[in-house]
Amino acid sequence: MSAPGRGRLTGAPGRGHCAGMELKPRRVYDDPLPNCGFETLCTHYAEDPAEQQGAAAPPIYQTSTFIYPDAEAFWNRRRGDGPHYDYTRVGNPTTAMLEAKLARLEGGTWAYGFGSGMGAISAALRAVLKAGDHVVAQAHVYGPTQTYLRQLARFGIEATFLTTSEAGALLGACRPQTRLIYFESPTSGHFEIVDIRAVVAGARGRGIVTAFDNSWATPYFQRPLELGVDLVTHSATKYLNGHSDVVAGFVVGRDDGELHARVQEEVEYAGATLDPFAAWLMLRGLRTLPMRMEYHQRSALAVARMLAAHGRVAVVNHPGLERHPGHELARRQMRGCSSLFSFALHDQSREATARVLDRLRLFRAGVSWGGHESLAIGGTFFSAPDEPKRWLIRLHVGLESTEDLLADLRQALED
Ligand SMILES: *Cc1c(COP(=O)(O)O)cnc(C)c1O
Repeated sequence: MSAPGRGRLTGAPGRGHCAGMELKPRRVYDDPLPNCGFETLCTHYAEDPAEQQGAAAPPIYQTSTFIYPDAEAFWNRRRGDGPHYDYTRVGNPTTAMLEAKLARLEGGTWAYGFGSGMGAISAALRAVLKAGDHVVAQAHVYGPTQTYLRQLARFGIEATFLTTSEAGALLGACRPQTRLIYFESPTSGHFEIVDIRAVVAGARGRGIVTAFDNSWATPYFQRPLELGVDLVTHSATKYLNGHSDVVAGFVVGRDDGELHARVQEEVEYAGATLDPFAAWLMLRGLRTLPMRMEYHQRSALAVARMLAAHGRVAVVNHPGLERHPGHELARRQMRGCSSLFSFALHDQSREATARVLDRLRLFRAGVSWGGHESLAIGGTFFSAPDEPKRWLIRLHVGLESTEDLLADLRQALED
């Protein structure tokens, strides 16, 4: 018997996967109420004040090691029936609480926290790929992800990058050696939408694994695992944490097979583990994810509409605008839009772009996004070497007053 919220152990070692790899036992939790909403899960899932001396906020298990009562217990520590924490590189109760919550929010069965988004993405890639394999990805995926994929050539892994986000083109670039399609929708500079269901259907038919970076939409707006994607990755640094004070990443999946075991191995042996204090800050940040995302969405759409109607603006790349080429697809596979988008001036020179950026006062110049503060940067955003260089302004619309942000942009765009 388990009270609502209290966990049970599952995943006995050696269950149903390849030789030499064991899934460690993990806790599975009941929902706080049957059919409860996303907001309730953010607040209560995997948390149990009765286990933490009544504390409404969970404790931080700020420890590297865990103590055993005797020698036998120590020797049996990997058997799965003893205390299941051993060493924080491999697992920690604060991190595990966050991992359980994130798996539930994404519609997965397991999640692993990493010390950064790139820690998570590189672990997912290594978990899937081996020498001789081929990867297909968009040319507009996050720049460091592309760089890492290119570096895998040293280990005999080849990658093809396509400047289109058409599902048919991504599938058409697959070869007999293709093991993985890695994609983002929308991309985080040009904001192209990919038909997730179509990519998944084509990949399944060819025995290809799919991995998807869901940092932009968060599980509040989009759940790729439910559309059939195999692995979801996150830069939790962005909206999931939402306060610009943590660097973290996640890999989430839904099958207890080889992929799960290999990602677990990446945590233990590559060791890019999430720190318990960062996990605790993220548990706090996640509680307000739905409210923050609603506000981000509303404010960013108001800003995008104002820009789309402005005489100096040539194009606004925001999938929530009816004029965006991926708008209908976005509506079918997402419940809403976050607040990162880009626009181009009619004068797409570097000088004109810099003049607008340097007049902004509330929007500050800085990388990253998803936090409380508004950001604006100019650039060509992961464009392929053979593409024409278009100067774009990328905005992250933060949690300030919408009217103030509109006023700031209007004065910066004055001639
Ligand atoms: C920031 C980012 C990453 C990398 O995450 P870090 O936490 O910075 O390592 C991955 N994907 C996208 C789309 C990002 O914006």
